[in-house]
Amino acid sequence: MNDPFSLTGHSDETERKLSETAESPKNNSEFRIANSELNLRPHHIFCLRFFEGRGYSEAFVKNTYAVLDRLREEGRFTVVFGPDALCEACPNLHAGGCVWQNKIMRYDEAAASLLGVRENEAYLWSGFTKETAQTLIPAICADCEWYGLCANK
Ligand code: SF4
Repeated sequence: MNDPFSLTGHSDETERKLSETAESPKNNSEFRIANSELNLRPHHIFCLRFFEGRGYSEAFVKNTYAVLDRLREEGRFTVVFGPDALCEACPNLHAGGCVWQNKIMRYDEAAASLLGVRENEAYLWSGFTKETAQTLIPAICADCEWYGLCANK
């Protein structure tokens, strides 16, 4: 049986977008730290940088603010390729994972590749700025329903 959260090879479309993205950071090892109990899937690094109080439900929005507070206080997170601190309050998380599993994994693979982060490794939140996010999102999540909110900031 396939592990729904395992990393697979990039799709052709993702490979093309990655190769077209200029000056993408390939290695964020300088921001790597020992550990963190706050789990984030790679593409949520971007979602959190642009969050402005809108989301899938009231509980989701409230939880996202709480995650941002933790990031500001603790300054660190661990990369996971599966349900994370945001997903746990999301109505789209079902027993088998996210209802948009294929799209979400495509975002996570592209985000991890462009940010140079790896599963189960911890990083400093300060290493991932909004400026970096703005440069990279066209190659990661341009077909996301929320993309316009992030791209226009
Ligand atoms: S469950 Fe899916 S839609 Fe909800 S926060 Fe997680 S990845 Fe995003």
